Amino acid sequence: MIDKTEATPPALDPMPGDWRRALAVVAHPDDLEYGCAAAIADWTDGGREVVYLLATRGEAGIDTLDPAECAAVREQEQRASAAVVGVDTVEFLDHRDGVIEYGLGLRRDIAAAIRRHRPELVITLNHRDTWTPGPGGPWNTPDHVAVGRATLDAAADAGNRWIFPELTEQGLEPWNGVRWVAVAGSTTPTHATSAAPGMERAVESLLCHRAYIEALTDQAPEEYVREFLTGIAERTAARFDGVPAVSFELFAR
Ligand SMILES: [Zn+2]
Repeated sequence: MIDKTEATPPALDPMPGDWRRALAVVAHPDDLEYGCAAAIADWTDGGREVVYLLATRGEAGIDTLDPAECAAVREQEQRASAAVVGVDTVEFLDHRDGVIEYGLGLRRDIAAAIRRHRPELVITLNHRDTWTPGPGGPWNTPDHVAVGRATLDAAADAGNRWIFPELTEQGLEPWNGVRWVAVAGSTTPTHATSAAPGMERAVESLLCHRAYIEALTDQAPEEYVREFLTGIAERTAARFDGVPAVSFELFAR
């Protein structure tokens, strides 16, 4: 029986377009490629600059690979996947994969990067406990929760001279120019942008994480990646005028 009391989720608004620089801050190699890269490809096509900042090298991500070896493989895969969507700068904070701690150290590291790169848009990944709204949804990882929350906080920290005065002493002047933090993979998205222009490169970009994907699934990598990415974009279309899209929860500042 259809529950008629359940409200239709509201339509998603278009993402703002009046910005030049974005900084995407996530926990692991592949976090941006699992859904967000199509948007990034489109944005870099339009002449916008996007920088990636990763809290870890994803060294705990492959059961059959020792972390020291894994870190090098995944860093290389991340740089390749970024290049596919027009992102040339990829930085790593070298927090430990799987045990990232939310706290002042993480906030400071992200605030420092925001001051260095001076973005108007900051992008991160779902910081909430689960991947779907309501009770009983798939549990998120503590790394995503920590990095997502710290990124939302650091957008403000970056603009305040007195929160991390050591950053100013290092020559990193406050940057209070972050206008939005966009959370990808949110349980409660508010905005979206068409996935169509960037979809082929998004597929190629996620395929760069070949070692990770081959360890994850027995399915042919290209088929797995294409099904996953087009599936999310098509589900989002129902709330975006029928246009396959990448969704974000946008926090304006
Ligand atoms: Zn992750």
